[in-house]
Parts: sequence; structure tokens; C-alpha cells
Amino acid sequence: MTVLASVAVGRPVRGEFSYLIPPSLEGRLQIGHRVTVPFGRGTALGFYLGPAEEEGKGPYKSILNLLEAAPSLSVEMIELLRFAATHYRYPLGEAIRGAMPPGLAGPEEVADPEPALQWFVRSVTNRDPGSKTAHRAPAQAAVLAYLDAVANWVPIEELSRAIPGARGKIKALVAKGWVQLESKAVVTGVREGLGQSRPARLTPGQKNAVDILTEAISERAFRPYLLHGVTGSGKTEVYLRAMEEVLRLRRGGLILVPEIALTPQLVGRFRSRFGSQIAVLHSGLREKERLRHWQSLRRGDVQIAVGVRSAIFAPIANLGLLVVDEEHDPSFKQEEKLRYQARDLAVVRAKQAGATLLLGSATPSLETIENVRKGRYRLIEMPHRVDDRPMPIISVIDLRLERPRPLIALDEMPILSPSLRQAMQEVLGQKQQVILFLNRRGHSTLLLCEVCGGSVRCQDCDVCLTLHLSSRSVLCHYCGFRGSVPERCVECTGPLLKLGIGTERVEVEVAQAFPAARIARLDRDAVSSSEKVTEMLSAFARRELDILVGTQMVAKGHDFPGVTLVAALMADGALSLPDFRASERTFHLLTQVAGRAGRGTEPGRVFIQTYNPECEPVRRVLNYDFAGFVEEELRRRRNLAYPPFMRMVSVRIEGEPAERVAMIARRLGQVAAKHLPHAERGVRLLGPAPSPLTKIRGKTRWQLLLKAPQHAAMEEPIAAIERCIPDVPSSVKVIIDVDPGAML
Ligand code: ADP
Ligand code: ZN
Repeated sequence: MTVLASVAVGRPVRGEFSYLIPPSLEGRLQIGHRVTVPFGRGTALGFYLGPAEEEGKGPYKSILNLLEAAPSLSVEMIELLRFAATHYRYPLGEAIRGAMPPGLAGPEEVADPEPALQWFVRSVTNRDPGSKTAHRAPAQAAVLAYLDAVANWVPIEELSRAIPGARGKIKALVAKGWVQLESKAVVTGVREGLGQSRPARLTPGQKNAVDILTEAISERAFRPYLLHGVTGSGKTEVYLRAMEEVLRLRRGGLILVPEIALTPQLVGRFRSRFGSQIAVLHSGLREKERLRHWQSLRRGDVQIAVGVRSAIFAPIANLGLLVVDEEHDPSFKQEEKLRYQARDLAVVRAKQAGATLLLGSATPSLETIENVRKGRYRLIEMPHRVDDRPMPIISVIDLRLERPRPLIALDEMPILSPSLRQAMQEVLGQKQQVILFLNRRGHSTLLLCEVCGGSVRCQDCDVCLTLHLSSRSVLCHYCGFRGSVPERCVECTGPLLKLGIGTERVEVEVAQAFPAARIARLDRDAVSSSEKVTEMLSAFARRELDILVGTQMVAKGHDFPGVTLVAALMADGALSLPDFRASERTFHLLTQVAGRAGRGTEPGRVFIQTYNPECEPVRRVLNYDFAGFVEEELRRRRNLAYPPFMRMVSVRIEGEPAERVAMIARRLGQVAAKHLPHAERGVRLLGPAPSPLTKIRGKTRWQLLLKAPQHAAMEEPIAAIERCIPDVPSSVKVIIDVDPGAML
């Protein structure tokens, strides 16, 4: 019997493929090796998965090339990707390829990149007494003596010239904690040395958390925790201490954050604590840098990584701790290709590695809360801010009562209520800072004809165009269409009202009201690159700005001690979205943005302006009633059969022409209905129906939803739909989204 190789091919095809192992490669292939294989009429990148049994379906083609000496992928990583590919229904080869840094995702051989970072070492001054006994290892002692004498950073090159063989000793000395290692190159987009030092004392909440985690980490088994700590409770310090423990045990660590550009402080804190022992992984890195970070992790030169969702696939060996910061954040869900939820994969990876899992948030997702309630995760709470600083006082402003009298024209409604204006006046007078949050970009989100009521809409999408005065254009936020600003209604030439306030208009209004204030706007239009985001946040942190106006980008975990006033200008924005998570998302955003106030020595104030002061999320945020919100929302979710009580799969059908899309959607609906398992398994089929956004980029969109208490119950209908996909004409795409994030 011939032994064949099972290979995942980096092409959008399902399944694993069998190839012959040529004599030149016999005995040389290891699981995870990158190879090239003949595929179709060309050559494709493949990943060796292990031996395959002959199935008698020859003739087999032969593997062409082995691309590397050591396998790029570990066995565990392949297992994780195999889980992801199966669960999220995506071809394994493509999933693996997508998880690799770009340099390794093609069928070329890649040389190890040159060491472009310059490395420095220095000795640790207050070392433990053990270092005195280092005379048993004379080469180490010599290195220490040299470094002690210099008492500063020394380039490794210099050290190895001075002490022959020094290079080989550094790793051991670092592991003992006697020597520090640091690279000179600053990682792109990350500011180092934000002056964050290690606090001398932990708060009682932090101490409790660190104690629990230290014990968990020492157990070397899967231990999942939710760290529910209010905004400003010092969660980052808990992550740092836990990570110190992991390093002490010479294991690896991984921290996932929503967006690097928006979390420069957190990354900075990690870098200033761990220096070059940490790799920072984000999409803003150049290909070469990404590859270098990746390989230094794979080789074990670096043990910790901080990164965005894709870092869940970072090649860290011997993982001891996996942290997901702001675990509720929607950005952990990938919305294309392999549609994974990184927080959920973190659970799988931690389990597989026997690692401690720490999900952190001030507003945990209902999915995670339900896991705590079911006893799957342990809860660690930090209900108080650092130094017992008070939580900011939140007041609600009912916009219905704040209309100026006599009533003015609709499009002249001010967005700053008189009470907010006054509060801003006071705060600015005391040289403190203000954050204004509004989750809509542009100047006006609706241009409405005063005569016929028609609105200015995108021709390709089922939405209104947003007026952007700064670029003098109207913009579609879905397809990117940009047009000139219409003077009058195209239908009846009536005058156009500018309704639906966006951040741009807020900026204008604030500048008029506070001409002396230094104002900046943080949204995707104003800051196009991640460097600029970081720059603006740093300027605000240095107090070179007084007022920051922005979208949810201002609501992330920023720590600005100068901010004593925060306002959510219109809390209703997200509420009306046709998404079962709209209420939860609103609650999260309001709590998070409120949490930016009063983090310094001065207490903070928060205003929430709304037309719906009675709605659940607003009512609950007012009193910091997280438990109450959770209870109410869980009840609603249970009644409506939504997650976390049900698992969901959405099937989206999009394409042209509209009739064909509708026809295919209906046919897939029938197929799914025919394959529904026995009613006892509780699978429900909703739709097919046009999606809430019925048209984007000229493509008509339909969707059908499957819900079931268990994923497995949906296997049959989904598989039946998948079997139909090859027959769907290429003008129509069928997208299967498992555990979908957004419902639009
Ligand atoms: P969270 O992420 O929980 O909102 P952070 O981790 O940003 O809070 O911490 C809030 C602030 O408290 C930061 O400025 C941090 O440096 C500071 N801090 C954290 N722990 C301590 C401590 N033990 N002693 C003094 N300050 C601390
Ligand atoms: Zn459009």
C-alpha cells in the first residue's frame, strides 16, 4: 500500500486532497509543512496534514516541492484551523492560508528575514541573590559583569565582541530575570514609554484577581474566567501581572484587543512592561514586519503577542494565558472569508493548549454572561475604580423637552442642549477636557425635500446619501459612492432640508459655541490612517486638545485623566436598527463612553441626550444597573429565541438580477425546510426574506436564518444548502455566516 500525503490546498475548494510523496521527500514531511502541489491546470500552495490512506481512486499526482525546513504551522494550529474551517464552513486550505502572514501565504520559498531590529541588553539592577552564584557558569558571570559595568543598554554586537560566546548566554540570563533584552526599532503605530510604570500597590480587586489567575496559570489546565471590572477599575494591570506570571513559568501569552490604533495606551503599557519580549500584530504592519514578528514567535524568540482578532492564529507555543480585552467588542467577528469570532476561537484555543482564558470587559457580552451563569466560566469582579474614584454621575437629557421656543426650523435644531452647553462652559473654564460622542459620520445623514418629501439616495444601495461638507460631497456609507452636493430636489426642485446630525456638524456647532476651544474630530473621515488616530489620541492625552468629537472610536478603552465631561449626543442612534443586538450594543456604547469621564483625580459628569429616555439601555445605564439590564435583555432574548439561548446561522443570497436572487433564495429556503431535523431538535427556519438592507452596490440581498439550541441540529439543512451552491449561477453569491454578528 502506498502511503499518500493528505494536503490542504490553498484554494477555495473544500476537503483535503491526497498526493503521492516523491522519493526525494520521503521521511522528510512534517505536519504543517508548506508544500507546492499541482492543482487544476496550475500549481498551488498546500499544507501537509499527515499521511492519507489510499482510496483506490488513482492516479495520484505528486507533491512538487517542500518550501521550508521547519514547518510554518504547528500541529495545534492546524487543529485550531480545522475546527474553525468546519465550524464556520470554510475551505480548510483557504482558512490556513488566510491565517498565515502574507509572506507565507503564497507558493514561494521565503528566506528567513534578515534581523532588522537591533537588539540591546542590560543587566537588571536589583537582581535576586541567586545571580551571585552565577560563578558556576563563568560565561554568564562574565556577561553580567560586563553589563553591570556599563550599567546601560549594550548592543548585542558589542557584547559578543567583548565576551566571546555571549550571544548564546543571553537567553538563559533573560529567563532568569537577570538581564533585559530590548529591540531598538519602534513598532509601527505604537508609542513607547507613555510613562506607565508598575504601580507599587494593587487595589484589593486587582489583588484578588491576580491571586486567582496566578493559581489558575500554575495549574496548566484550561481555566476560563470573565473579568468583569467597571471602567477604570484597572483591568490592564491585571493582564500585565498575569502575563508576568506566565513569563516566569516560561510559557507563552496572547492578548487580543479590538483595534490597535484605538488602544495605543494598552499596547504601550505592555511594551513598556515587557519591551521586546512582546510582538505587536496588526494589519497596519508592513508585510515584512508582520512576517518577522510571526517568525520570531514561531521560533520562540518572543513569547507574548498583542494583536487584533487575526492574532488568534499567532504561532505561540506553550500558551499559558490568553486574554481577550473588551471581549464584547463586535470587531472580534471577521465579516468576510473565514467568518470567525476570535473570542469564541480563543475559548477553543485555550482549551486545546491547557491555558488560562481571561475575557475582560466592563460590559461583558450576553453570550459570556450566560456562560458564567451556566458555570462554564468563573467570574472575577472588580466593582470599584482604582483609588476608589467615584463613577461619574450620569444625567439624561430629554431632547423632546429641549426644543428651543419659539420652534425653529427642523434643520436648525441645535445638538448641544442648553444644560450640556453650560456644563461644557464650566469644564473648559477649569481647563478640563470634554468628549462628545455621536455614532454618525458626516454633516447630515438625510437630505430631505421640503416640498415632496423625497430624499437624496444612493442609486446602487438602499440607503440615503450622507452630506459631507468638509469634502463638499454626498457619500454612500455602504458602497463609497461620492457625488456632488445637489442644490435642490431632483424630482421637484424643492429646497432640501439637512437633517440627521453627524459628527461633522457637531464639530461646526461646537466651534461656533466655543470659539476659543481646541477641537478635534475622531472618525474615519477625519483620520484616515491608524498613525493619525494614535497621533490624535496622544495629542488629546497630552492635553493639547480640549474637546474630542467622534464616533464610537472615542468610546473605546481610553484612559484620559483630564476628561471630566462626556456626552452622548444622541443615544437613540443604534436603537432603531433591525438587529436583535441593538439594545445591547447601545447599552455597551453608552456605558463605555460614560466610563471615559472622571478617571483622574477630578470626578466626572456624563450627559446622555435622547428622545427615548424611557428605553431599557438608557434607563439602566443611568444607574450603572448592568445586572438589571442583563436580566431584562436575557428574558427578551429567551422569549424571542435569540442568542445566547439559540445558536444561529444566517444564509445570505446576494446578486443580480433581483428576480433571480429572489428565486434562488426561495429555492434554498425550500431545500432547508425539507432537511429540517425532527421538531424535537428545535430548529427554526426564518425567511427567506429580503435583508433589512435590500440592496448594496447594486446587488439585491435576501437572507434566511436558522436557529437551534445546538449547532449540530442545523448541520443537515446547512449541508443541504451547501450542496446546492455549485448550481447557483455565478451572478449570485451564497454566503453562510455561522454565529453572525450584525444582522443587516
Ligand atoms: P480599565 O481598563 O479597567 O478601564 P485601566 O486599566 O485603564 O482601567 O486603569 C485605569 C487607570 O488606573 C490607569 O491610569 C492605570 O494606570 C491606573 N491604575 C491601574 N492600577 C493601578 C494601581 N494599582 N494603582 C494606581 N493606579 C492604577
Ligand atoms: Zn451606495
